[in-house]
Amino acid sequence: MASTDTDTDIATAIATARNRFDSGATRPLTWRRHQLEQLALLLRENGPQIEQALWTDLHKNPTEAQLAETGVVLGEITHTLRNLKRFTKPRRVSLPLSLQPASGRLVREPLGVALIIAPWNYPVQLLFAPLVGALAAGNAVVLKPSELTPTVSSTIAQLVPKYLDLQAVHVVEGGIAETTELLSHRFDHIFYTGNSVVAKVISRAAAHHLTPVTLELGGKSPAWVDDDAHLDQVARRIVWGKFMNAGQTCVAPDYILTTPDRVDSLTTALRRAITDMLGEDPSQNDDYGRIVNDRHFARLAGLLADAEIAIGGEQDARTRYLAPTVVHAPAPRALDAEPAYMREEIFGPILPIVPVTDADAAIAYVAARDKPLALYVFTGSATTRAAFIARTSSGGVGLDTPMLQAGIAELPFGGVGASGTGAYHGQYSIDTFSHKKTVVRKLHVLDTLRFAQPPFTPAKRKIA
Ligand code: NAD
Repeated sequence: MASTDTDTDIATAIATARNRFDSGATRPLTWRRHQLEQLALLLRENGPQIEQALWTDLHKNPTEAQLAETGVVLGEITHTLRNLKRFTKPRRVSLPLSLQPASGRLVREPLGVALIIAPWNYPVQLLFAPLVGALAAGNAVVLKPSELTPTVSSTIAQLVPKYLDLQAVHVVEGGIAETTELLSHRFDHIFYTGNSVVAKVISRAAAHHLTPVTLELGGKSPAWVDDDAHLDQVARRIVWGKFMNAGQTCVAPDYILTTPDRVDSLTTALRRAITDMLGEDPSQNDDYGRIVNDRHFARLAGLLADAEIAIGGEQDARTRYLAPTVVHAPAPRALDAEPAYMREEIFGPILPIVPVTDADAAIAYVAARDKPLALYVFTGSATTRAAFIARTSSGGVGLDTPMLQAGIAELPFGGVGASGTGAYHGQYSIDTFSHKKTVVRKLHVLDTLRFAQPPFTPAKRKIA
């Protein structure tokens, strides 16, 4: 491909970031602390502009934007600043007696220049939350926001240079062409959030330079429901988690598994919860989002074509409105005979209810498929909770609630298998963007190393 001005800009941005890192400027805790404080300032001073951009691109309600985007990043910054010294300080490790006298330390060092590629669904949170970890660990960073939320992307590109170290942090806007050009360069870490098809493109490009990757992907996150005593509350929580951001959330419950005799009562409770939270006509409610673009709208409309719609289903292609929708799925069958909405991640406001005989059948159903990013269990039974945790694998588990496990700074957030590789938040972000270097010193006094050195006399063999 011929070199373009953008290619030159990208090469310059990466070279500048590398020079800045190589200068050592990003290593002191004072620099890291200042960058985190500046990022917090960026979010605080420009809240309305950021919220307006999220409204323009995603019809995201400003309160939801504060809760699920800027608020999450600010929480991450507060937690990291409070613990920065503890998270980054070298850790002394006591060594086995056979090595004494000696000392051991674990030293966290920054990796260098990190590339962070973000998706469109939480375009602020998913770009800036990893940035918190990258900066806290002392790296220079290139940020690539999603081109599918262009107002957010340009807002970020305009704000970042005003607040953060101009040489260390760069924003490269653009889509496939720009990302492809970025990926042709060597980075020291690539942190990608998005779909699994592109994750393979990223992984192949990273392999070329032996660059480590963190892949934050998605998948079909199931929710098991058998909690008859709390049906209304369960329905409210599922409706909240599923229809937030019009279902375009990586940890949204993708579908419900329940027993056939519960399908009707659960459907009634879900209808009540939808009306309660979003009104009779969610198209008129500013609390409800829109589908990000025409391609995704057409994809979701296609999933509904043959579906048995129990609630919702109303669509308006012009405004990309798709009502909160519940569908009654058939009983599980061979994967290629499943309806399309049970074969792929839905990533929109369509919630299938799949009837299965019991919790054991639900566990078998989940365990036979790709490992999801989240698994939700709504039950009154401790045995059922324990069985799901022990016999299924997922990035995280929510008991009696969706979503919360994804936003806790004290706990790692990440997938497993098809839902991702690596994790972040708080200490785990710093670990992701650091190399954990082992440093060992063997003292000269009492030179016990002689026992490991030739000549290997019979006496030495006995000691070994
Ligand atoms: P997207 O289309 O915005 O793509 C993500 C990023 O990849 C963008 O920056 C885009 O420019 C880049 N990209 C797209 N095509 C590319 C290509 N061919 N080569 C190089 N780069 C390319 O977002 P998306 O993938 O539609 O996001 C939705 C997916 O992300 C869902 O599967 C969802 O579950 C997952 N997701 C996961 C998390 C998580 O934290 N684990 C969070 C949000 C979304």
